[in-house]
Amino acid sequence: MKILVADNISEKALQILQAEGGWQVVNLPKQKGASLVEEIRDADALLVRSATKVTAELLEHAPKLRAVGRAGVGVDNVDMEAATRRGIVVMNTPGGSATSVAEQTLGFMLGLARRIPEADASLKAGKWEKKRLTGSELRGKTLGLIGFGRIGSEVARLARALEMQVLAYDPYVGSRLAGEQGVKLAALKEVLAESDYLSLHASLTPETRHLINAARLAATRRGVRIINCARGELIDEKALFEAIEGGQVAGAALDVFEAEPPKDSPLVRHPRVIATPHIAGSTEEAQEIVGISIAEQVRDFLKYGAPRNAVNLPAVTAEEYQKLQPYLELGEKLGSFLAQVAGERVEEVRISYDGGLAEVNTHLVRNAVLKGILNQVLSEEANLVSAGALAQERGIEVVELRSARRAAFSNSLGIAVKTESDTVSVLGMVGLQGAQRILGINDIDIEAPLKGVILYIRNQDVPGVIGRVGTLLGDCQVNIANFALGRNQQAGEALGLVNVDSPVSPEVLEKLRAISAIRTVKVVTIGP
Ligand code: NAD
Repeated sequence: MKILVADNISEKALQILQAEGGWQVVNLPKQKGASLVEEIRDADALLVRSATKVTAELLEHAPKLRAVGRAGVGVDNVDMEAATRRGIVVMNTPGGSATSVAEQTLGFMLGLARRIPEADASLKAGKWEKKRLTGSELRGKTLGLIGFGRIGSEVARLARALEMQVLAYDPYVGSRLAGEQGVKLAALKEVLAESDYLSLHASLTPETRHLINAARLAATRRGVRIINCARGELIDEKALFEAIEGGQVAGAALDVFEAEPPKDSPLVRHPRVIATPHIAGSTEEAQEIVGISIAEQVRDFLKYGAPRNAVNLPAVTAEEYQKLQPYLELGEKLGSFLAQVAGERVEEVRISYDGGLAEVNTHLVRNAVLKGILNQVLSEEANLVSAGALAQERGIEVVELRSARRAAFSNSLGIAVKTESDTVSVLGMVGLQGAQRILGINDIDIEAPLKGVILYIRNQDVPGVIGRVGTLLGDCQVNIANFALGRNQQAGEALGLVNVDSPVSPEVLEKLRAISAIRTVKVVTIGP
């Protein structure tokens, strides 16, 4: 295993990877003359901070790469589409800097309350302005948080220690969780109207862009102080400048800006504004934490296949991933089975989740099904990351259906594949011992192990066919492990799934096809 570390990460983080026997860790910043493009050729994983640009072109030189680990949150330096397309998992370390950002937020609040930067500048200018620089206490004031995630809740914890009242607006957080932390969840209108300090901690989404605009500023308590350590785009800077000038807003402390670095910004220069260059998360401790986190995440992914904090995969914990694992295998095997029996040009894939399976994060199962299908037809290998994008690229429509009611078989997975000429559906489940089984095909009940070499036989429902198939296989030295039968009486058609112990040669297949009642025989191989 080769891990390429392209930017500076802490010694402790490096040691986590070096401790793995047989792993080669190449620390690029410390290797004079080594080139990224050369070193990435045989690398399994790449670790970066924000300096290295992981472009589509760079990834073209990385045929073995399976993971990119970003020590930090923003992944703007990674071409996500190119990584996803190549099946590379991109992971980041959300929350690693939560304490640092929360502490800076508190520093900003104190700085605004006590006018520390202003007082410092005044004294350095040779003045002694005790009267003008009278401040106010934080105790007893109301702090309104917009966004109550990792950082927002840490800020709340610190503010509570200073005996502040804390209100929060976050439409995606339950009030019980907030209540337990002594925080009252409230509507945005209320938070705006009640807060002495308004601190932004929401993620940037189309909905939160310019969340603080002229109308919202007008709805705040007069004399409010505004802090933004989240993302610059949450605030309409022009509107904020005007609100400060007009006296509606008494002061602002900003670590982030609409454009970074801000160009000739009157807001940054304003005497009632404290501004720092996006450093709220930049502390030695945070850097150490994110370095260690990304090293552990990449190690665990390479060792156990469990992606944590993957940006181009849904968020799953290691435990969830473990629970999902048998269904990922089931999905992939069912997909592979269908691709082998359904014929060419898959147009549509329908996936139905039943019972408990309908309630889990099915994105990975869906991709496992697509991986199973695509790997029968593509020359490049599809994986859990890339399968969705590859299917879309090939114009395969994917429809997902969920039924949380307990089906006859709980946690069953049904897949139907529509090709240009046919539609075949299969229902499968994971048995007690974790083995995958087929439960039905095209609404015909037929139960068989989903493994090894399987003969898929469709024949006219007339006497003697099973006997002839059995005899023929015996004569050709093909041992039968399991013979499953089902039929569609209305259509007069029977279906056989024969698990055999060895590969079936084209000659044997020809002989089977020569049996007059047999309409279709296909050999399906489910690996490994
Ligand atoms: P998080 O995902 O834990 O929390 C974000 C919260 O925003 C979530 O609880 C979410 O429900 C909430 N949210 C989403 N849409 C909302 C809306 N319309 N209104 C109100 N709330 C909404 O993220 P986090 O780690 O706490 O980070 C918070 C912010 O801080 C992010 O914007 C992040 O980019 C930023 N950040 C800045 C620095 C820095 O150096 N200044 C460092 C790290 C993170």
